[in-house]
Amino acid sequence: MGKPTGFLEFERELPKKRSVEERLHDYSEIENAPDDSSSKQQAARCMDCGIPFCHNGCPLGNIIPEFNDAVYDENWALAYEILSSTNNFPEFTGRICPAPCESSCVLGINKPPVAIEYIEKAIIEKAFELNLVKPKMPKTRTGKKIAVVGSGPAGLAAAYQLNQAGHTVVLMERADKIGGLVRYGIPDFKLDKHVIDRRLAVMQEEGVQFRTNVNVGVDVKADELLDEFDAVLLTMGSTVPRDVKIDGRHLKGVHFAMEFLSQQNKRVAGINPEYDHRGAPYANGQIIAKGKHVVVIGGGDTGSDCVGTSSRHGAASVTQIELMPIPPKERDASTPWPNWPMMLRTSTSHEEGCDRHWSINTKEFVGDENGNLKELKIVDLDWQKDPATGRMQMKEVPGSERSIPCDLAFLAAGFLHPQQEGLLSDLELEFDERGNIKTNGYQSSSNEKVFAAGDCRRGQSLVVWAISEGREAARAIDEYLMGQSFLEAKSVSIFNPTFAHA
Ligand SMILES: Cc1cc2nc3c(=O)[nH]c(=O)nc-3n(C[C@H](O)[C@H](O)[C@H](O)COP(=O)(O)OP(=O)(O)OC[C@H]3O[C@@H](n4cnc5c(N)ncnc54)[C@H](O)[C@@H]3O)c2cc1C
Ligand code: SF4
Repeated sequence: MGKPTGFLEFERELPKKRSVEERLHDYSEIENAPDDSSSKQQAARCMDCGIPFCHNGCPLGNIIPEFNDAVYDENWALAYEILSSTNNFPEFTGRICPAPCESSCVLGINKPPVAIEYIEKAIIEKAFELNLVKPKMPKTRTGKKIAVVGSGPAGLAAAYQLNQAGHTVVLMERADKIGGLVRYGIPDFKLDKHVIDRRLAVMQEEGVQFRTNVNVGVDVKADELLDEFDAVLLTMGSTVPRDVKIDGRHLKGVHFAMEFLSQQNKRVAGINPEYDHRGAPYANGQIIAKGKHVVVIGGGDTGSDCVGTSSRHGAASVTQIELMPIPPKERDASTPWPNWPMMLRTSTSHEEGCDRHWSINTKEFVGDENGNLKELKIVDLDWQKDPATGRMQMKEVPGSERSIPCDLAFLAAGFLHPQQEGLLSDLELEFDERGNIKTNGYQSSSNEKVFAAGDCRRGQSLVVWAISEGREAARAIDEYLMGQSFLEAKSVSIFNPTFAHA
């Protein structure tokens, strides 16, 4: 423990944010860079408790008290070594992880928890600044060739690990740039894309081969993939969005959230947003929210990102509606410490201005004579627990039906599963009851050479889970090819006090 009395002396502090007035005029990151003295102070709050529940709260099993200690000692090289032993991309998680570790921090029982995510970001930014993030060349090559399909955090983490184990890794991506949803979903104001490029440069030097504009299943057929490679890892994400199938769905102005968000990320990157990754024009053209009444349907991260992007476009109004009831403002008794609490969350985009409503159902999109969306018909819901089943049931509140102005509606109601037609059906894979790739561990149940990880396997989730799955799948592939693996897995890193890499 760095400072035994740290948690009594210092308050929890989060990174400083740029003012709303300033940040609404650009797409640069909202948070200011961490500074050394406040990172050290925050690390001093860690109590190095006997059983650090934060390890378990983090899907990667990050070794948190140890890196906090190293930060307190200003030993950035050690802090980076510890952090990078379990997390390939702390620069992603340090920016956008909802930090389940902090919900299970022991200090959090009666005080604000340690600002773990902040410290994580401080370590990795310092590591890049001090040139500690250097390419690490595998000592030997195994001669085994692995295809990774999809370049989101799951595919990138797996590619990183498999390359370190000495395999030849070819990562294929159908978009024009590597990064998955971190590149073309999550807005720049949450994660600047130079953060991805800086990491890709390191991986490329280490020997990972990146191929963009390759739609696997179309440009490279399933049987070619199986013939050419010793193992195939599918990390294709959960790409089929949940639709809102009500009257007026066809009107001009109703869009899936991802269409809007990916166009904006392209604009910021200086890429023409009129065309998709294959050069085909978007059916709905460019989506611009300036001067429009925007309604975002769905209350999660995707919805919140539509709110922030619409505000930056200069929308006339931004409203977000959610089917479910408003969550409790504090940790609810149903999710006690150290569980992830079900509670109301206010994002930086919400802080910038948004009218939020819960327990609302959408009834109809209403258009004008030219087929343009003009209004959204909504109704209030009453949620009650069914005494027989204990499940929540919704009923429309009589007389509450009304219309709100709406020129643009963004559907952010989640994602169902990966695209099944094409590659997955050609590989004759099985799906679980939710339509995701069915695996035994990470190995597909119908073809032993095929593995899956990330959102296409576990369903839509988080970046930290995608990295975790990518690492675990890499270990499973390495074991399949070599009979054993020295790659880190979560179960190893939690109980292994030596931070040694494979
Ligand atoms: C708008 C939005 C905001 C989010 N914000 C957050 C957040 O703040 N924090 C957080 O933790 N999580 C967030 N998430 C969730 C997070 O981004 C995902 O859980 C994570 O990216 C999943 O990683 P993945 O590698 O499994 O798949 P993805 O990131 O979805 O990557 C899959 C990749 O596979 C490619 N692909 C698909 N099919 C093929 C094919 N046939 N051939 C070649 N390539 C193919 C796709 O083009 C894509 O690039 C957000 C998600 C969205 C949509
Ligand atoms: S990756 Fe997320 S959960 Fe894990 S330590 Fe970092 S902020 Fe916490």
